Amino acid sequence: GPGPAARPSALRDGGSGPIIVAVGSGKGGVGKSTLTANLAVALGRLGRKVGLVDADVYGPSQPTLLGTLGQRPESEAEKLVPIESPYGVKMLSMGHLVEPGRALAWRGPMASGAFGQLVDAHWGDTEIVLLDLPPGTGDVQITMVQKYRPAGAVIVSTPQDLALIDARRAAELFAQGKVPVIGLVENMAGYICPHCGGESDPFGRGGAEAAAAEAGFAFLGRIPLSLSVREASDAGTPPAAGEGPDAALFIAIARQVAD
Ligand code: ADP
Repeated sequence: GPGPAARPSALRDGGSGPIIVAVGSGKGGVGKSTLTANLAVALGRLGRKVGLVDADVYGPSQPTLLGTLGQRPESEAEKLVPIESPYGVKMLSMGHLVEPGRALAWRGPMASGAFGQLVDAHWGDTEIVLLDLPPGTGDVQITMVQKYRPAGAVIVSTPQDLALIDARRAAELFAQGKVPVIGLVENMAGYICPHCGGESDPFGRGGAEAAAAEAGFAFLGRIPLSLSVREASDAGTPPAAGEGPDAALFIAIARQVAD
């Protein structure tokens, strides 16, 4: 096949642009966007200059997660200027470009054109840009991975069998694009009942860790299914920005991605 394509020049402004780390999942609803937002915030807390591109052109949720809903990016010299979220993450999302609720019955080519604008932006001194990929492993994702050649990828899965089969497909997507997988995160692993304190495993337990081992990937950590994560996320106050046990979990994962 063709040799490795150069990354678009915008990412090499001034000689060394940010490195891109993609976050992918085999299917929707496993918490990929939630993890990406919190990973970005956690990387910032570790002292990294972080950016985030919400490439989920069909259902952009990063403006909600990071408290920038309704904002519009400026542009300079025909390129977008990322929006500063309240949590120290510079970001661009399709949600900043289209009216909420009007996303998006776009076809592949239009979606990837719009996506290019988000990536080829004025990232300035940003060191690392997390790419929240659309869920799944179709043409849109393949094009994104091949065009922008992330330096690494994180895969998110629930412990459930079906989600794991899909996660393997995501692994294949990155292997095809020769993108090294940094590791796998298990989300929605274990549930603490807020009433009785009992712990249960609605989606099973340990499946993602086993799958990671089998595929030869690092296992980066496990985030429980928790009301606090869901409520904080919906409120645009990422748990990784707080002081509770949730923050510690995200920071531990971020530390492995930062290395
Ligand atoms: P995806 O990007 O994979 O489609 P999202 O990040 O949008 O998934 O998450 C789907 C829903 O699940 C959201 O309502 C989110 O708040 C919730 N969610 C994600 N992770 C957790 C978690 N660990 N505990 C509780 N709710 C979660």
